Amino acid sequence: MTTCKNCGHTFEGKYCNQCRQEATTTRITWSEVVRQLRHATVDVDRGFFFTVQQLFRQPGVMIREYLEGKRVNYSNPFFYVLLMAGFTSLLFLSFDVPLPVRSISLEHIEKMSPLVAQKYFILVGLVVMGMLTGGDLLLHRRAGFNVAEITVASAFQAGQLLVITVMLFPIIYLQDHYFPPANSWLDVRQLLKLGVFVYLVVVRKQLYAVDGRPPALQLIRILAQIIITIAFYEVVVARLIMKMI
Ligand SMILES: [Zn+2]
Repeated sequence: MTTCKNCGHTFEGKYCNQCRQEATTTRITWSEVVRQLRHATVDVDRGFFFTVQQLFRQPGVMIREYLEGKRVNYSNPFFYVLLMAGFTSLLFLSFDVPLPVRSISLEHIEKMSPLVAQKYFILVGLVVMGMLTGGDLLLHRRAGFNVAEITVASAFQAGQLLVITVMLFPIIYLQDHYFPPANSWLDVRQLLKLGVFVYLVVVRKQLYAVDGRPPALQLIRILAQIIITIAFYEVVVARLIMKMI
């Protein structure tokens, strides 16, 4: 007899007969990640909108539960970020809208390498995942997640930041075409940055809720982490990307 990690039902066999989750759902390791990736292409949109919704409602809680074994209703995290990255690249390229970080010119990238431009947000997604994973490994080790698990968490977050970007895209487009801002502080892109900031802080407050530190100290550490991450991305990574191309 197996107790389902998704719904708690007790059953016999390879799959839960209530929710279809696999009996073998284990802790996420690199081999589990590779196995999931091989299956990812099969169930293209399984749980996509549910994943979008849950990653807004209580992102850190959802990610923690996913890591602990509630997986069957959600999109594969790597598929999630790749799908959103492809879609976001397509949007910015086809509507010819300057990127959220204005110092990077997609037009310039397209002249140098159309392929990189078409996949630009995949590059962004990978960079963001790397930065979040690195920061979390340094600062939140007490939570007890392994590198593969933190990478999975970062993939969900990078994917959701792209969802937020896509949601704000129509406003950015209208602004650029009809109400160009008087200065960069009035640009809707600042709102996007604020959204990204708040989102990443909330995720960590929920995901790393119990780490034994006083809540105020934990919040300060998280705020510092996300400020540094965003500043690093805007200044260092953005320049590096433009230099490389
Ligand atoms: Zn079940």
